[in-house]
Amino acid sequence: MEKTDVVVVGSGPTGLLLAAELALAGVDVVVLDKLPERRVQAKALNLQPRTAEVLDLRGLLDDAHQRAIATVTEGHFARLPVPLRYDGWSARRPYQVGIPQARVEELLEERLLSHGMRVRYGHELVGLVQDGTGVTATVRVPNGDERTLRAAYLAACDGGRSTVRKLLGVPFPGTDARAFGIVADVVLGRTSAAVPTRWTSTAKLFAHTAPAGQVTALIPLDEPGHYQLFTIGPDIRPESREAPVSKAELETALRKSYGEEAEITEVRQATRFTDASRQVERYRVGRVLLAGDAAHIHLLAGAQGMNLGIQDAMNLGWKLAAEVLGRAPEGLLDSYHAERHPVAAEVLENTRAQGLFMFAKEDPGVDALRGLFTKLLALPQVNRYLAGRISGLGIRYPMDGADTGSSHELLGARMPDIQLADDVWAGELLHTGRGVLLTVDSAFVDAARPWSDRVEAVLLPEIPLTGEGADALLIRPDGYVCWTAPAKSDLETALTTWFGTPT
Ligand SMILES: Cc1cc2nc3c(=O)[nH]c(=O)nc-3n(C[C@H](O)[C@H](O)[C@H](O)COP(=O)(O)OP(=O)(O)OC[C@H]3O[C@@H](n4cnc5c(N)ncnc54)[C@H](O)[C@@H]3O)c2cc1C
Repeated sequence: MEKTDVVVVGSGPTGLLLAAELALAGVDVVVLDKLPERRVQAKALNLQPRTAEVLDLRGLLDDAHQRAIATVTEGHFARLPVPLRYDGWSARRPYQVGIPQARVEELLEERLLSHGMRVRYGHELVGLVQDGTGVTATVRVPNGDERTLRAAYLAACDGGRSTVRKLLGVPFPGTDARAFGIVADVVLGRTSAAVPTRWTSTAKLFAHTAPAGQVTALIPLDEPGHYQLFTIGPDIRPESREAPVSKAELETALRKSYGEEAEITEVRQATRFTDASRQVERYRVGRVLLAGDAAHIHLLAGAQGMNLGIQDAMNLGWKLAAEVLGRAPEGLLDSYHAERHPVAAEVLENTRAQGLFMFAKEDPGVDALRGLFTKLLALPQVNRYLAGRISGLGIRYPMDGADTGSSHELLGARMPDIQLADDVWAGELLHTGRGVLLTVDSAFVDAARPWSDRVEAVLLPEIPLTGEGADALLIRPDGYVCWTAPAKSDLETALTTWFGTPT
């Protein structure tokens, strides 16, 4: 029987980043995908600002920029006419990167290849048994044979219809589909004045008039006339999610929002989606971890699904690697569920609320709520809060301030990518996947020396924070600050809590 450390089921963005993170830490991984080859499908089109930062932490953002089609400085909430702005979050790059999901997957797969690992396409997970020491997976290989694979852990990154979830018998509670939509790659012939030619603000793309209850938007891609068409609402009523998408169906939606003269000459791809919202109750089931769409699905409002999955992978990768390498402190792997479950629950909450605003047909109560919410969105603090939630920049993990004795504003929050010296930015220090200690005190550098295989200590003349100052900041491999000085607890305790006992 073949053996490995971790089996990753699914090579979407979640599985690819997770596998690359494990490989970076020196863990042996097998990535399976039932597809015969990488799919090219009209799906996500954006990296939210925090996801862009996360890729930057591993030196992948420049590459993403080269493959991108737009820089998007404003988001939206439920198409309300006040855009979401990212400038209140100390982001070095306060914008979304417009990039098709297929290109994100391409660059993540290239990163995996650079670690000498290939996705095993045509390999479908069909069975799964776990015991106290590992997981045995049954895999159907391209010639139809079934083989077994033994690993210490298995990661379910196999999407919304997750086979792993079903094999484990894990419930997926939530709400069924009430609205159906389509995302399609189309080429337009004739257009109208309402058809946008540039994508710099998602709020503006959704700002044109549309029939009540129907949401249709055109997002310009990188060839003239080539668009992603997004449409959802009562006009779309397929027999099932698998029903083929017709050109007429798309053209009807397009003309209702963009005028009779708009015309589609080619439909390159089309995918149906719904507003079904579900989330598993536990992200860990013994030696199986669920991540990405396998753990949560929701309406595509605000473009958050792929972003959520990539950030799940970044949170899980270094923790699972530490566990497999035998150096994880107690509770570290379980902190994946504790930290990431509430983040996705908030996304389900905001997408459900957006769905109500977007699809409700002429309801005076909803109209009043919409008006009130628009006024609230114009308040800087409200706008910053919602922008922080949807962009991911506002995520803050509970780090037990009572224990550390610190209430520093960065504790549990993302480390902003600040410039530390002429050519050194904080984010670049995390490229190796190790933790980082920034400090102005050489005593802290000495104290961190026993952990030098997992934490890089950097002595600076000052830590140039724009807000509250600090003598030291301990940053986890996923870019979140887990300890600050001055504090009641000592650095050694914090290093042991997050990085284990030194060897
Ligand atoms: C039309 C559409 C538009 C979207 N737009 C956006 C957007 O604008 N922004 C955004 O952030 N998100 C968007 N999303 C959501 C986003 O595409 C998903 O959240 C994302 O793909 C989830 O990634 P994943 O890696 O978790 O799962 P997936 O991408 O679904 O990957 C799962 C992989 O697992 C493989 N697999 C499944 N079962 C098995 C098995 N038994 N054995 C082996 N392999 C298996 C599948 O073949 C697949 O490759 C959109 C989704 C859709 C459908």
